[in-house]
Amino acid sequence: MSEQANPFESLQEQIDDAAEYIDASDDVLERLKHPERVLETNLSVEMDDGSIEVFKAFRSQFNGDRGPYKGGIRYHPGVSRDEVKALSGWMVYKTAVVDIPYGGGKGGIVIDPNEYSEAELERITRSFATELRPFIGEDRDIPAPDVNTGQREMNWIKDTYETLENTTAPGVITGKALDSGGSEGRVEATGRSTMLTAREAFDYLDKEMADATVAVQGYGNAGWIAAKLLENLGAKIVAVSDSSGAVYNVEGLHARDVKGHKNETGSVVGYAGADEEFGNDDLLTLDVDLLVPAALENAIDGDLAREVQADVIVEAANGPLTPEADDVLTELGVHVFPDILANAGGVTVSYFEWVQNRQRFHWSEDRVNDELEGVIVDAFEDLTSAYEEHDLPNFRTAAYVVSLQRVIDAYTESGNWP
Ligand code: GLU
Repeated sequence: MSEQANPFESLQEQIDDAAEYIDASDDVLERLKHPERVLETNLSVEMDDGSIEVFKAFRSQFNGDRGPYKGGIRYHPGVSRDEVKALSGWMVYKTAVVDIPYGGGKGGIVIDPNEYSEAELERITRSFATELRPFIGEDRDIPAPDVNTGQREMNWIKDTYETLENTTAPGVITGKALDSGGSEGRVEATGRSTMLTAREAFDYLDKEMADATVAVQGYGNAGWIAAKLLENLGAKIVAVSDSSGAVYNVEGLHARDVKGHKNETGSVVGYAGADEEFGNDDLLTLDVDLLVPAALENAIDGDLAREVQADVIVEAANGPLTPEADDVLTELGVHVFPDILANAGGVTVSYFEWVQNRQRFHWSEDRVNDELEGVIVDAFEDLTSAYEEHDLPNFRTAAYVVSLQRVIDAYTESGNWP
């Protein structure tokens, strides 16, 4: 993994690349390259042994021209101000590319959650929720899960907010458990959009999905669900990895069995159905039809990109390719379908959850999945139309051309006050 690329600079470069094809003034563009505000806070929390520990936490509200700020909260030791800024910016363009009425935000706590008890994590989360309270709200800023957070943390945040505000406001946060106002289909939604994007991409490129070989880097919620759903389409998952390493079988692994092994042992490594094991980087350079990076930012830098042999990359993670990697892959003719489309299922079903919360109504899983499919297929068409119409160098630029234009239109149409 490259340590060099700063994700915030990567975001700004991606906007600049797309801006070449858009009629927008420099000052309007400049405005769209910086967050509107960033909350930085130090949470002092009592540990189980009575000591106090301090945790740095952030919430970046990047842009709200198209609606309330929207985006997850991650718990990871690598969280930094610039990472959160970048991730919040990617959310702006993600919500715009799938055309749901939100802006972009993102938060994070600098923490390795594996080192803390559940009671400690609850106090840390409630402390963060208390700090966030004045900044969030059903129509203001709506957090959600991200790396190392899920229904449990979302429920704690909702409960803290509602208690402090003395109200009922389930739409203040999404990704909740079903009993707390969550939506059917939300847990699988990110991986589902990766599968749908890959399906549409293969169709667009006239490639067969049946028996296509697939490598998935990262076997968390996004990676494993994408693997399972791609397998349902007839693809052969030949390699998957997590932070401990990769497992490989040329005949195909069984996505569900690998997940079972990971649940039992904590890692995909050691899975009995594999006939080879190697490091993460080796997975990224396998000769496969489809590569799905589903871990963290900067997984593929310029040097590694030169060794990539996959025909198509569909990004389940946020920001897994550095801008240099993008340039190299464009030159090599590898088709990259970007994160802001391919993992947008998470935020799209978050939107459905919020709509259901506001309406005090519950949709069936089939309805959620059908509506999600419609959103991703429409967005895919918008992206490929822009790609063809402007003769763009790659699909990432196409996604930014579409989304940047939508944000600029919302801004210019509603005036620029102040
Ligand atoms: N964390 C997810 C993302 O990066 C989901 C955000 C949301 O549901 O608001 O897209």
